[in-house]
Amino acid sequence: MKILVLNCGSSSIKYQLFDMPAGDVLAKGLVQRIGEPEGKLDHQTSAGKKTLNQRIADHAEGLKLVIDLLSSGDPLKDVNEIGAVGHRVVHGGEAFTDTVVIDDAVLAAIEEHIALAPLHNPPNLLGIQVAQQILPKVPQVAVFDTAFHQTMPQHAYLYGLPYSYYQDERIRRYGFHGTSHKYVAGRAAALLGKPLEECNLITCHLGNGSSIAAVQNGKSVDTTMGLTPLEGLVMGTRCGDIDPAILFHLARAKGMSIDQLDTLCNKKSGMLGLSTISNDMRELEDLEAQGQPDATRALEVYCYRIRKYIGAYTAALGRVDAVVFTAGVGENSDYVRKTVCKDLSVLGIAIDLDKNGNARGKEIDISQPQATTRVLVIPTNEEKAIAADTFRLAQ
Ligand code: ADP
Repeated sequence: MKILVLNCGSSSIKYQLFDMPAGDVLAKGLVQRIGEPEGKLDHQTSAGKKTLNQRIADHAEGLKLVIDLLSSGDPLKDVNEIGAVGHRVVHGGEAFTDTVVIDDAVLAAIEEHIALAPLHNPPNLLGIQVAQQILPKVPQVAVFDTAFHQTMPQHAYLYGLPYSYYQDERIRRYGFHGTSHKYVAGRAAALLGKPLEECNLITCHLGNGSSIAAVQNGKSVDTTMGLTPLEGLVMGTRCGDIDPAILFHLARAKGMSIDQLDTLCNKKSGMLGLSTISNDMRELEDLEAQGQPDATRALEVYCYRIRKYIGAYTAALGRVDAVVFTAGVGENSDYVRKTVCKDLSVLGIAIDLDKNGNARGKEIDISQPQATTRVLVIPTNEEKAIAADTFRLAQ
């Protein structure tokens, strides 16, 4: 079955066409700058790459262009070959603990959760509606970033606020990157040669946005992101954990508005804010290697926060089979893995520096033989995980 996976942003559509169950990618691409004067579509198949530069008025036009390209003979002869569409949806709140086939009730629930994810759920919803219009007979499936973390116990998801704020406003920890944490947890179990239901893991998804999950017997029991994807680790431009009173202080002392504080914490903080140079880890690591103190300072804070959470989640889990590194930084930065794991023999962690230095692009155990907690590098593949879930339900 051919499965189209869509990840719709406010001005973009990321897509991949899979042949399932084999999992082969038949085509992939990105529509960008939707609604702007100069739109762009990059499309790739085994035959090569193609770029369209033209104004793309809205998501409907963008998706129509994608479907036309896909069904122009390569890789598909006919649009009816698409058996199902899998959509990445960021926030499913407490309504969804798993992937679902989309019906009117699901659409209404995604809409209800717009208040909790104002930047993400509206374009996700729009992508579904547009796909339903263009492919009316094809089952559409929603895969939620929050679903994997719905197994968290109350003591992990409640904040220390009055309980009525949870009851009335649904203020709680939800967690994100669930598709990635679930995928790498499954791969880690395979690598460890154990059933997932017997694995305790700490999965570190370190990209532009970053989060760590504590996985007990295959289920998420805690995670660093919270009500929104701002909490937890220091990220590219997001601050992660801060004392909430900092915001009251800045509002009072500097007269900063809610919107200014939002921009400060989401767009101007993290590695960009700490280094004052860049949010790109490659650039910061190069500068650190040259002895640039601004880059060193930012990297020290970044790695320390990850290390602290690995300690916290070891206590939460009691026993840890493996720490897993994934996503752009986790998969590619031997510097971050080495710094985070340094002198952690107290947690049974000891990495082999040669293996750590040669871990890019593959699934690999980088631990020394005697380590009781393994350290794994596992490339994530959220699109493939969405395709697999969609295939499971579309059957
Ligand atoms: P997103 O959250 O946007 O999906 P990614 O998972 O692609 O992000 O991760 C992007 C981050 O990965 C960037 O900070 C980038 O600098 C970093 N990265 C990519 N390659 C390397 C590398 N070789 N070494 C260090 N960091 C890298």
